[in-house]
Amino acid sequence: MDFLQEFSDPELCRALVAQLVEECTEPFRFMEVCGTHTVAIFRSGLRSLLPDTIIHVSGPGCPVCVTHESEVELYLEMACRRDTVTATFGDLMKVPGAGGSCLKTAQAEGAHVEIVYSPFDALALARKYPDKKVVFLGIGFETTAPTIAATIKMAREQKIDNFLVLSFHKLVPPALRALLDDPEIGVDGFLLPGHVSTIIGLEPYRFLADDYGIPGAVAGFDPLDVLKGLLAIVRMKNEGKPAVTNEYRRAVSDQGNPTAVAIMEEVFEPADALWRGIGSIPGSGLVFREDWKDFDAAAVLGLEQKPAKPLPGCKCGDVLKGKIRPDECPLFKKRCTPATPVGPCMVSTEGSCAAYFKYHIES
Ligand code: SF4
Repeated sequence: MDFLQEFSDPELCRALVAQLVEECTEPFRFMEVCGTHTVAIFRSGLRSLLPDTIIHVSGPGCPVCVTHESEVELYLEMACRRDTVTATFGDLMKVPGAGGSCLKTAQAEGAHVEIVYSPFDALALARKYPDKKVVFLGIGFETTAPTIAATIKMAREQKIDNFLVLSFHKLVPPALRALLDDPEIGVDGFLLPGHVSTIIGLEPYRFLADDYGIPGAVAGFDPLDVLKGLLAIVRMKNEGKPAVTNEYRRAVSDQGNPTAVAIMEEVFEPADALWRGIGSIPGSGLVFREDWKDFDAAAVLGLEQKPAKPLPGCKCGDVLKGKIRPDECPLFKKRCTPATPVGPCMVSTEGSCAAYFKYHIES
């Protein structure tokens, strides 16, 4: 079976859109939490097919975009140390700090920064540079954290003592709770992230329906997945029976991946974390457990997170909370473009501003 074809079938998509038109009779504001959904909705042209009753807002599901200004400042400062090699996924290279510099400019000025495609590549760098501390930038959600935890365990097994991780991981469910506690957000339903859900399953989202009466559907990233997820949410809303459903069964089991969760929880524990534009959210980050602190770059290198101001004029915080659309930011397409990004939402491939720019979306 060709899954790409099957889950983009135009006839089936048209049928689901028709059902949405028929069943979504009142204005309905849904948030797609995940940056990959944002891009999928634009790339497939789905947004223009959805009925006018469905109002689409993006959420805080791009890990690069939600990395707090103070975290960016900290890793930029660290990258300039002579005794470190910074290993990072490519998306972070152009994220600007307060002074306009980024990892790319730091690299041009002599900082040793290397792009890797997995934390295991960073571990290989640690073997390659035994006289340096190799620091992997641990930025991502529940999807990324288990692999990073597994790499840390491997480093210990292999007695590689110059491999460190700067853990700025974020957890999705606490951020959704924070959004729902903000009276200005006003979301009727959540399209829940498929990737994160492969790890955590459905249980951590149950509070959406139980505590807030808001429906949510875990959805995949092909057009039929998105439409199926939306239809499930609209139906739950119409029936007055909010729940959290799994509309991505070919990849996500209701229980998630307990092995991956166990590895993540062996190395890390939840702690309060700062999110760009949202602020501190209780229990929404991952820090090293005591037993694993010898891999904690912040502790080993004595790095201190200092207060940092938002980038002047950038509205990424409001975009991440679904309060404004990217093209409502005064800098969009003017001072801020993918070639000259002012904020991370224009840098990341999962960023809403980059998606609006790339797919020529205008209000
Ligand atoms: S357009 Fe640029 S400056 Fe405005 S919110 Fe997006 S990333 Fe920030």
